[in-house]
Amino acid sequence: MNILVLGAGQLARMMSLAGAPLNLNIISYDVGSKQLMHPLTLHVIDQSLTEAIAECDAITAEFEHIPDDVLTECSVSGKFYPGKQAIKIGGDRSLEKALLGKTCVPCAPYQLITERSHLNNAIDDPGLPLVIKTCQAGYDGKGQWRIKSDSNVEQIWSEMSDFLAAGSNDAPHSIIAEKMIPFQREVSVIGARDKFGNTAIYPVTENEHTGGVLTLSVAKAISQDIQQQAMDAFNRLVSEMDYVGVLAIEFFDVDGKLMVNEIAPRVHNSGHWTQQGTLCSQFENHLRAVAGLPLGATEMIGPSAMINVLGQADIPVEVLSVPDVTSHWYGKAQRPGRKMGHINVVAETEQLLGEKLVALAAFLPEEDYPGVARRGKDLTQN
Ligand code: ATP
Ligand code: MG
Repeated sequence: MNILVLGAGQLARMMSLAGAPLNLNIISYDVGSKQLMHPLTLHVIDQSLTEAIAECDAITAEFEHIPDDVLTECSVSGKFYPGKQAIKIGGDRSLEKALLGKTCVPCAPYQLITERSHLNNAIDDPGLPLVIKTCQAGYDGKGQWRIKSDSNVEQIWSEMSDFLAAGSNDAPHSIIAEKMIPFQREVSVIGARDKFGNTAIYPVTENEHTGGVLTLSVAKAISQDIQQQAMDAFNRLVSEMDYVGVLAIEFFDVDGKLMVNEIAPRVHNSGHWTQQGTLCSQFENHLRAVAGLPLGATEMIGPSAMINVLGQADIPVEVLSVPDVTSHWYGKAQRPGRKMGHINVVAETEQLLGEKLVALAAFLPEEDYPGVARRGKDLTQN
């Protein structure tokens, strides 16, 4: 079976790796260069998008920022999952907030901003401190500002108004101002829904961000209440969208109550641990869903962690000497801060996971791999 993936980055690459044993052949469409390519070698395939759409059995996407005409062409084929509407919602925070409101899933209070007076309204309600986010085009903490009581609001507004002005009638730009949430931790849930409405949901993952970018995910025993809240949110959202594929939801945990930060209509960085931590990874389950195959097991084999490799061209080879550690490279050119790959580690117990993280931290400098030593020590002391 041939599956066309919109996007040619690491998520398409990992789908390709997960698809091969299932006899699912992945072809990527690179939206920037408008070329079809092999997701592993990036060799260009001499085919038009229209031809690829006609020849494939299913279409999916690895990211949200896809031109409308491409989404429409995929949509009319009747093979596109999770489909145009879901991708549009995931790519626009204002649509995302509207969906959360409609499904009564809690999220951070916010104001939509399209002109200067709206910013003043937001400063009054929900009030400072605020996290300001562009509704379109943001990722990895980009397109964000923080406004605190001593911030230079005019300076921030001038950057915001540049973004608003860059929109067009066909593709208007907007911004949301969100209450800065004093969360205890960030968690996410990843799940898949098939074409018949069956779901398979992974255990909730704890995530650490540094400078707005995910640096570390840990999957371990989680309270039933938190898992239930996350699954309730998942079920409401996928039912409303009649969703097919993997959906990721990021939450803030505030005193044991989950509040959605954002959703991603695709496989997600905080689910990379499932490659070794479960029998059926998020990549495989996504492909199974869009290809019309039964979903696979989402139970945790053992406590697991994922460490992002950000901006590093390689890692010390000793990392691979720590038992049950794997590395996953994305084959990308090095740039500071760029997601270059990740390291997965799985263990039989939380204590052992902690020991392995401590062992890894000896080879991974704190400034490049924040939190590894601390999380390792915490887990060994539990
Ligand atoms: P990514 O694509 O990596 O998920 P993003 O650009 O979509 O990032 P967000 O997930 O919205 O951005 O924000 C990045 C991080 O900034 C969050 O994980 C969280 O740590 C922090 N953050 C965002 N919104 C808020 C908020 N309202 N209150 C407190 N912290 C926030
Ligand atoms: Mg995020």
